[in-house]
Amino acid sequence: MNIIETNNITYRYPDGTEALKTVNFEAEEGKIVALLGPNGAGKSTLFLHFNGILRPYSGNVLVDREEIKYNKKDLMRVRQKVGIVFQNPDDQLFAPTVLEDVAFGPMNLGLSKEEVEMRVKEALERVGMEGFEKKPPHHLSGGQKKRVAIAGILAMKPKIMVLDEPTSGLDPKGASQILKLLYNLNKEGMTIIISTHDVDLVPLYAYKVYIISEGEIIKEGNPQEVFEDVKTIRDANLRLPRIAHLMEILQKEDELPFDRPYPLTIGEARRKLKDHFKDV
Ligand code: ADP
Repeated sequence: MNIIETNNITYRYPDGTEALKTVNFEAEEGKIVALLGPNGAGKSTLFLHFNGILRPYSGNVLVDREEIKYNKKDLMRVRQKVGIVFQNPDDQLFAPTVLEDVAFGPMNLGLSKEEVEMRVKEALERVGMEGFEKKPPHHLSGGQKKRVAIAGILAMKPKIMVLDEPTSGLDPKGASQILKLLYNLNKEGMTIIISTHDVDLVPLYAYKVYIISEGEIIKEGNPQEVFEDVKTIRDANLRLPRIAHLMEILQKEDELPFDRPYPLTIGEARRKLKDHFKDV
């Protein structure tokens, strides 16, 4: 079942920029879906449609099979289901302390003080930020800010979490902590939608991949299907995962007999190479 669906949506910014041109996007409940595209392709614009921050110029958006209606009550309903983590945590964090920031969302849901406290505690523990309650967010590192921003969304207990470039600007350890967290949340049933231009990460986590370029979805499928289409990937100013690129070079330039599809992860490449060299 699709928990988020856009049907032929188009979006134009007030200055006339046509940011989305007839986009059809689906996220199946309980899966991790990745939206891959170069800068300026329309990733953030599409995401802002998922909880009604932006309203399409034409077409419609369905959340949990219900069309977003854009009145106050309906938007409240949608935003409880769909939590968006912005690319830049400074756009998200605004309260004087971490505690107040994470408590802001659940407090606005009208929950009891005890329930809010419990949710904040759980959310901060979940992202490994317990003990930072009294700190001002602007004293945190990039990775810590990102984790607090995620905690603020978790405290709302959404069914769907949408993250715009969740690993951008983080060091490898910070990035892998975030991905592990997302992976675990997904295992517990949360639908996760992420945008990224980091093609190496996608095959590790994504069930389905969309490629967006100049406001249009130009490819969709599982990672294997999508990265098979090397021309489309390169035309969109993206690249193959490093591992697949290495295998492509070994095949084409060194004439090693690796058949396609190219492996996309270190694990797959290792199996293929071991298999190839076992008799050598
Ligand atoms: P991405 O997230 O893939 O980097 P965006 O969705 O931010 O792409 O941008 C898509 C297009 O819309 C780009 O051409 C960008 O310049 C334009 N755009 C984004 N925000 C605005 C805005 N507020 N006003 C006008 N144009 C915008």
